[in-house]
Amino acid sequence: MQILVINSGSSSIKYKLFDMPSESLVKKGSLEHIGEEGSELKDHYTGLKMVLEEIKGVDAVGHRVVHGGEDFNKPAVVDQRVIKGIKKCAAIAPLHNPANLSGILACQKLLPGVKQVVVFDTAFHQTLPEHAFIYGLPYDYYQKLRARKYGFHGTSHQYVSLEASRLLKKPLNRLKLITCHLGNGCSITAVDKGKSVDTSMGYTPLEGLVMGTRCGDVDPALITHLMQKKNLDPKQMDRILNKESGLKGISGVSNDMRLLDEKAQAGNKRAKLALDIFVYRIRKYIGAYLAVLGGLDALVFTAGIGENKASVRESVCRGLFDYMKKKPKVLVIPTNEELMIARQTYKLICPSGRGEKKC
Ligand code: ADP
Repeated sequence: MQILVINSGSSSIKYKLFDMPSESLVKKGSLEHIGEEGSELKDHYTGLKMVLEEIKGVDAVGHRVVHGGEDFNKPAVVDQRVIKGIKKCAAIAPLHNPANLSGILACQKLLPGVKQVVVFDTAFHQTLPEHAFIYGLPYDYYQKLRARKYGFHGTSHQYVSLEASRLLKKPLNRLKLITCHLGNGCSITAVDKGKSVDTSMGYTPLEGLVMGTRCGDVDPALITHLMQKKNLDPKQMDRILNKESGLKGISGVSNDMRLLDEKAQAGNKRAKLALDIFVYRIRKYIGAYLAVLGGLDALVFTAGIGENKASVRESVCRGLFDYMKKKPKVLVIPTNEELMIARQTYKLICPSGRGEKKC
């Protein structure tokens, strides 16, 4: 059967078509500038209509949805309850969930009768224990506003954990892993027996590591102080923390690791400082998660920087495990979130898993 995986962003659609259960990639592509001034693609419906003119024989669709809140700890077949849940979480993920939903609604219209499945970025982290996901804030905020750590990149962390288990030839339920997803957005997860037990991103994807343009961990009191001092409203502050900080903000050069490294090697001090801070923060989190897990079988690197930048991996690992009697393996595993979504979609609509062509 053919499963179409859709990642519908605010102004883009990325798609991959898989033959399942063989997992072979049949087709992939992307559209950009959706809804932008002067673009012929006025909305997601128009974009997906164009995509589907090229693709025939879709048996099911798997959609990436960024935020599933506490209501979804696994993938779900789209129905009214699911749509309501995605809308509810749009308040927490205003840039992502509405765009994800537009893709789902467009597919429902364009492919009537074809099953749609949603796979949430947050779902893998719904196994976090309370002591890891509750913030040190008045408990009321959790009870009434669901203000807590959710974590993101879950599909990627889950995929590379499964791959690590396959490569190490050891079942996941006997493994302690730390997975580092280092792309434009960066997050790190402690995985115990296949379950996420702590992760660096939080209520939003801003917490944790220093990223391309996002600041990661900062003293919250500094934020309110800066807002007063610089007369910034919440929207302006939010933009600075998300778009003007991280590697870009520290270096004043770029958020792109390749360019940053080039400049650092050419003697640019702030580019070098940005790289040092990037690596230092990753090492700090690994140290913390070693304590959380009480041991480690493998450290896994994935995504743009994790997969391609050997010097970052070397700096992160230098001397890190010297004190450990049994040294963990260090693995580089290319992530494949789309394949993970296709697998989960297939599993949900073909629960018998007997490799049916049609379910
Ligand atoms: P996204 O989070 O947008 O999916 P990616 O996983 O593509 O991001 O990662 C983007 C980051 O990976 C950028 O900082 C980019 O410079 C870095 N990157 C990609 N390819 C390479 C490479 N060959 N060498 C070094 N860095 C790379």
